[in-house]
Amino acid sequence: SSASNLQEVSKDQVQEFLNSFDTVLTDCDGVLWIDNNAIPGSAETMNYFRKLGKRIFYVTNNSTKIRSDFAVKAQQLGFIASQDEILSTAYLVAHYLKGIGFTKKVYLLGSNGIGEELKAVGIRHIGVGPDHVQPDFKSMKPSELDPEVGAVVVGFDEHVSYPKLMKAASYLYSEECLFIATNTDERFPKASSIVVPGTGTLVRAVETCSDRKALVLGKPHAYVRKFLESCGLDPGRTLMIGDRCNTDIELGVRCGFQTLLVLSGVTSTKDLERIRNEKKPPLPDVVLPKLGDLLSLIPS
Ligand code: PLP
Ligand code: CA
Repeated sequence: SSASNLQEVSKDQVQEFLNSFDTVLTDCDGVLWIDNNAIPGSAETMNYFRKLGKRIFYVTNNSTKIRSDFAVKAQQLGFIASQDEILSTAYLVAHYLKGIGFTKKVYLLGSNGIGEELKAVGIRHIGVGPDHVQPDFKSMKPSELDPEVGAVVVGFDEHVSYPKLMKAASYLYSEECLFIATNTDERFPKASSIVVPGTGTLVRAVETCSDRKALVLGKPHAYVRKFLESCGLDPGRTLMIGDRCNTDIELGVRCGFQTLLVLSGVTSTKDLERIRNEKKPPLPDVVLPKLGDLLSLIPS
């Protein structure tokens, strides 16, 4: 049956579970850390997987950092990690555009993390940072658009503004202009009653005013799946760990991986009950309150 709590199964079944995969894909925020704080026991558990000889990938929808920054962050929080184990959406954007031989400029409704990954593959971009708000917001002139732009990329942008939405939609008015988004997460994990809108909010805004659909690259969409398949892992012997059912677990299910949901991030026990009843999005194979809880279950 789906979504069994690993804390309620026998030692033999835990051992069987540990033997059943040789690649571990893990979400980052909500599984390994929340913001800049490590979740207790996660580093020890990931490092234990590594000691067992398992291959590890860190798969994050966060588009605000370059891979080496994620590697440094992971190391500072106690994880053994190298840049080539990081699969982040900023990197996926650069990898995708390079892969299709894109040579024009990107209009980036996003942050510098994407900008730097684009620069690393020789692709130019404009748009990062605050944009001026004009006294008359409708007074923008076509001459303010850069004719070299051939793609609009939407990622997380704390400087999102009306002029930026106007520019993004105006570039997309040309059918040849590509429309790419990093991810569609609805919101950030909540630490209080304050709701922090996620990148999906911005993607929907640009989709609405441009009347187009973005190609979304991150979890659980097809491009990250294709990328993972190209890494030569065996789906039947791969474990996906996540804190969100509609991104992480959905990705794992679509790829035929085993899935482990932890309740230390976005999905709460209450959410899991609702998902159990509605069977949508898909349920994980196994559940733990947090990843570090696995340590005390390991048979000696
Ligand atoms: N997008 C942004 C901008 C974020 O800051 C985060 C988490 O910090 C995420 C997405 C979600 O990242 P993950 O897929 O690692 O949970
Ligand atoms: Ca997460």
